[in-house]
Amino acid sequence: MDCIFCKIASRDARAEILYEDDLVVAFEDINPQAPVHVLIIPKKHISNNLSLEETDKELIGHLFLVANRIAKEKGIADRGFRLVNNCNREAGQTVFHLHIHLLGGRQMFWPPG
Ligand code: 5GP
Ligand code: ZN
Repeated sequence: MDCIFCKIASRDARAEILYEDDLVVAFEDINPQAPVHVLIIPKKHISNNLSLEETDKELIGHLFLVANRIAKEKGIADRGFRLVNNCNREAGQTVFHLHIHLLGGRQMFWPPG
């Protein structure tokens, strides 16, 4: 399977990795939409939110906890930050390996575009 995020997780493709453990990897987005724009992914290939299974519950919780950790490390936790998951085409999903965007460091607006 030709998946760029699998390649980043296995270090077959380069990325600015900020955090890694047995289950997840977090790295800088190549095309940042805010001063802080980090992607948090499971190491295991899951194409998107709809492909999650009951056994992935803990993994998903872990992704959110890693997002908190990075938001604190980046100094944006108190100011505020946004977590985004784009699922399928109309939401703007372009990479079909589940990821959470951690965005912050500027004022966010609502509704999102
Ligand atoms: P999506 O649109 O699927 O929710 O988000 C995909 C994100 O992955 C985009 O923000 C895009 O900039 C980022 N991205 C795509 N390819 C690469 C890559 O090769 N390296 C990194 N670091 N980010 C990527
Ligand atoms: Zn993948």
